[in-house]
Amino acid sequence: MTSETKQTDAVTAEKRNETGTDDEPNALRRLIEDARVVLWDFDGPVCRLFAGHSAERVANDLASWLESRGLHGLLTDTERESLDPHFLLRAVDRRHPGSDLVAELEERLTQEELRATASAMPTPYADPLIRTWTAVGSRLAVTTNNSPRVVREYLASRGLGACFAPHIYGRTQELSLLKPDPHCVNRALNAMGAAPATALLIGDAPTDLLAAQAAGVPFLGYARNERKGKLLRDAGATVVVDSLEPVLRSVRH
Ligand SMILES: [Mg+2]
Repeated sequence: MTSETKQTDAVTAEKRNETGTDDEPNALRRLIEDARVVLWDFDGPVCRLFAGHSAERVANDLASWLESRGLHGLLTDTERESLDPHFLLRAVDRRHPGSDLVAELEERLTQEELRATASAMPTPYADPLIRTWTAVGSRLAVTTNNSPRVVREYLASRGLGACFAPHIYGRTQELSLLKPDPHCVNRALNAMGAAPATALLIGDAPTDLLAAQAAGVPFLGYARNERKGKLLRDAGATVVVDSLEPVLRSVRH
């Protein structure tokens, strides 16, 4: 075999590693090595916000509240049955953008989220991963569709506020800018003076992937079950972990 053939083989192997789905450990390691700035989606990667406090019930309560005000017709049956508070909020905002009604609905959701922080379940390995990543010199931010007040309260309760402060970018009154819009991601990059390619976004939903792609930020999927993993892969995520443990191991190296 000539040295040229050997070289070609090596390049082919390298290419296979970059694109092959059978080589996720290497892809994960590369994602982590290249990340100077780590942008965390909150509900999912950091904690399960509604672990003891169902998001479905919150969505139902918001829909009932609209009905009690004679605004039943504001939602389609599909929207009412979505059982997703953010989906519901966006739907109302599309019909009455920037209205007092939307502001009140958003505040009600924030209050529900604040109540949920008390029973939120920390994602396994998230706390040590956050501390380790900070200790090795990476800078962290939260980019979330939840209220920033909720994120600050949760992080303070875990003693993790200093790992992120002041970089918490959450829901604003501009509901059309929720993810999949890259607004919160771009706010974080601008505030941190970071180029998109030097960042990494960790998220657990296709909307996180879409926001990362729109901002040009590499994406790491976190899926706590197979259903969520499939949703992420179907949306085009190439690196998806079902635990943050291998991420922690890789950051420690
Ligand atoms: Mg999430």
